[in-house]
Amino acid sequence: MKPTYDVVVVGSGYGGSITASRMARAGKKVCLLERGKEFQPGEYPDTFEAGGKETQIDTPLGHLGNKTALVDVRVNKEINVVKGCGLGGTSLINANVGMEPEAGVFEDPCWPGALRADKATLAKAYAAANQMLRTTPYPEGAPMPAKALSMKTGAEKLGLTWLYTPIYVNFDIDGPNHVGIDQKPCTGCGDCCSGCNVGAKNTMIMNYLPDARNHGAEIYTQINVRYVGKQGDLWTVFFNRLQTGEEPFDAPTATITAGIVVLAGGTLGSTELLLRSALHGLAVSGMLGEHFTGNGDFLAFGYNNDLRANSVGDGTRPPTPADPVGPNISSIIDLRDPADPKGGMVIEEGVVPGFMAEPFALLVSTAAALEGVDTGTGFGDALKKKEREAISLLRGPYHGAVNHTMVYLVMTGDDDRGKMVLDNDRLRIDWPGAGQQPVYDKVNDQLLALTKAFNGVYTKNPVWTNLFSKDLITVHPLGGCIMGEDGAKGVVNHKGQVFTGAGDVVYEGLYVSDGSIIPRPLCINPSLTISALAERNCLYMAADRGWTFTYDFPNLSDL
Ligand SMILES: Cc1cc2nc3c(=O)[nH]c(=O)nc-3n(C[C@H](O)[C@H](O)[C@H](O)COP(=O)(O)OP(=O)(O)OC[C@H]3O[C@@H](n4cnc5c(N)ncnc54)[C@H](O)[C@@H]3O)c2cc1C
Ligand code: SF4
Repeated sequence: MKPTYDVVVVGSGYGGSITASRMARAGKKVCLLERGKEFQPGEYPDTFEAGGKETQIDTPLGHLGNKTALVDVRVNKEINVVKGCGLGGTSLINANVGMEPEAGVFEDPCWPGALRADKATLAKAYAAANQMLRTTPYPEGAPMPAKALSMKTGAEKLGLTWLYTPIYVNFDIDGPNHVGIDQKPCTGCGDCCSGCNVGAKNTMIMNYLPDARNHGAEIYTQINVRYVGKQGDLWTVFFNRLQTGEEPFDAPTATITAGIVVLAGGTLGSTELLLRSALHGLAVSGMLGEHFTGNGDFLAFGYNNDLRANSVGDGTRPPTPADPVGPNISSIIDLRDPADPKGGMVIEEGVVPGFMAEPFALLVSTAAALEGVDTGTGFGDALKKKEREAISLLRGPYHGAVNHTMVYLVMTGDDDRGKMVLDNDRLRIDWPGAGQQPVYDKVNDQLLALTKAFNGVYTKNPVWTNLFSKDLITVHPLGGCIMGEDGAKGVVNHKGQVFTGAGDVVYEGLYVSDGSIIPRPLCINPSLTISALAERNCLYMAADRGWTFTYDFPNLSDL
């Protein structure tokens, strides 16, 4: 690692990888620092033991597990967050959906005027992201996953719109891809959310990160950035090295400097970094930490339905190409309302990773018995359900009642009133009444109606119950360093530059570029919009300095 670079990027999710790629393409000396480890296909956990080792849980009382473990769970009083930690960020464990929000979302005055006024640059940025991520729907001719068929059937019965979702999954290439990385076509194993061991999932390590490396960027893992500060014209980045044995000795932080620093640690990571930087003297907007949203995420199950769902990933089982589980999310019921972008919702069908098969079977059957609402009627229905339950008990989670269970993932509009704070140097989220917002009752009613179409047992997420005072779980945390017209309304401007206080003055060389800059729920999976905003930030970062970069894919031997 050199003492100084043109651009230092913190974090390697969508925002960080995109910035590293585009700035390296602009010919700049780029250094990317990532807290997590590097994983390659074949190294992701597919057994319960391996999954346990790759999970870290942070609670108000303390931190359990390794700080570089892949699955990073944050437990808070009202809302829990699941995110990724590794080279590639949460792209490593997400469900691959890449969809744009409804146009009405961008009419909300919470977005800076410059962004609302210039739809052409945003469209160009979405196109650039889609090109690199190779977004495509599940192939029409391929065997339809049972969960997708269930969703389609349910939608038809209720007269709702169903479609295959655009996803970041490779179905055609068997060999080097557009940036020279070997990929394999998807086998439909369903284990996308514990990491794709096939090499079919288009995560950051399959596109933007190797592209950054092809153009000269340096990438360092297991580096935990603590805070940043400005000295003269340069920014100093203070960090610790993880997994070096230094931790117990409270090793002093190391530093590097740069003309431009881009914070891309994700919604929680970048907010934490700026909050700590403020404690070390950096003047920032008072809005820092505000407008946290869970993107209206809601999780529930349709247990022991009449229709098969096959919603548990293969884990160590051989793939079944004629009857695939299917990519984690393959299809969607789209109930978004253009007239009311926060009032609509989308319902997606999910998969439980194979390494969780046994605990999931126990959890969902217990939750169904305790809190479930049986939408079927009559003696015959009850008998069929008992029979399927007995089959699951005898033959395991890939059979019977559990094999007839749908995993529903919903996104809607919450009130984005969460707040992130540093408590004893650890990030916490406060959001009194988060799960009690009326919009979740509407979602609950819709999911109950869908489960009725399958004669199943509607089963709420066990923590969204009175027992847990209706706590939420989100995999789509957004906000905290939101965009705004000035520092009274936001933390960064429309280009991602950090405001120096309540006015409209920014630090020219300090940016945030990740989910934290999004000022409201998108009511759809956010990664494509995070990517588009990062692409847009790069366009301005380059244009403001007279730098240029292209989107073509040069012959790698020419680089
Ligand atoms: C199970 C699951 C399923 C999902 N499914 C979808 C989906 O289908 N579609 C979709 O659009 N979205 C999905 N998401 C969410 C999506 O993946 C995230 O919104 C997206 O990855 C966020 O991108 P980001 O750039 O903001 O940050 P992240 O991707 O979270 O990356 C941030 C990175 O920064 C690193 N970092 C943080 N702090 C520091 C620090 N101090 N020093 C160094 N490094 C640091 C982190 O380790 C991490 O690797 C899913 C998420 C999960 C957990
Ligand atoms: S379904 Fe399996 S092979 Fe396909 S992208 Fe997901 S993890 Fe990879």
